[in-house]
Amino acid sequence: MRHLLGIRGLSREEALGILDEAPRFRDVAEQPVPRVPILVGRTVTLLFLEPSTRTQASFQLAARRLSAETLTFSPRSSSLRKGETFLDTARTLTALAPDILVVRTSEAGAPAALARALPGASIVNAGDGAAEHPTQALLDAFTIRERRGALERLRVAIVGDLLHSRVFRSNARLLSMLGAEVRCSGPPTLMPPGLERLGATPFLRVEDALEGADAVMVLRIQHERMHASYIPSEREYFEEFALTEPRLARTNDAIVLHPGPLNRGVEISSEVADGSASVILEQVRNGVAVRMAILAEIARGRFPRKSHG
Ligand code: ASP
Repeated sequence: MRHLLGIRGLSREEALGILDEAPRFRDVAEQPVPRVPILVGRTVTLLFLEPSTRTQASFQLAARRLSAETLTFSPRSSSLRKGETFLDTARTLTALAPDILVVRTSEAGAPAALARALPGASIVNAGDGAAEHPTQALLDAFTIRERRGALERLRVAIVGDLLHSRVFRSNARLLSMLGAEVRCSGPPTLMPPGLERLGATPFLRVEDALEGADAVMVLRIQHERMHASYIPSEREYFEEFALTEPRLARTNDAIVLHPGPLNRGVEISSEVADGSASVILEQVRNGVAVRMAILAEIARGRFPRKSHG
């Protein structure tokens, strides 16, 4: 694997390889010195052009635990503010350190364009517009598989703002590729056409999507990607679509996932977010191990000698 641009383009074997390797990297955190020498002498550059808490912090930690140097750029600290184009910034960064570039941007397709423009670097997509967020999907699949034993034939309901969600697109592709039954629901205005092509079955009522589900993934309303009014009010949204305890009771003792950031009282109630079914903080912890497995997989292909050092 040279790049990770999306779940589209990732094979089932590659995905399972990452999920299988992740526990070994989680064990690294338990060691007295939580480091392995897989990326010694390599630089992982984080170029984050959209806000991020979990993804940025966990990539940083993952790269450091693999012994890489890390460089972090965000719009506030970089020349992007002075009018430099995204591509020129990326070119400059890879001229400095042409190893692995982790990129988050509001432009769908930008990671793939970078991979073409910068042949010396490996590109990892940390979220591009509403298109894909492959590392989130891999950590979600890892968390679900670990908690429920297998993904094959598991019922996973994804509810919320599907239209603007890259987490939804990557998860629907990955979970269906790995044999899960993916159901989805949300306000009709936020359900895009062609859901079946992503491997998901749409339900008009959230309650029907939740019926008998083994895992529920709740998604935030992505106000930053909306240029019109898609929902009546947050209060009405909560009444009709949020994951609340009565709605959770319809599931098959489902675990509850959310990629964050959470809007309590909008898409999820606090009782559910903090309740015993919630694995939201486990997702965050697993994110470091899964991202280590992804970076290590890229290293294995690209830097064979050093990666075994
Ligand atoms: N953190 C996730 C993302 O970057 C989900 C979200 O923002 O709602 O896509």
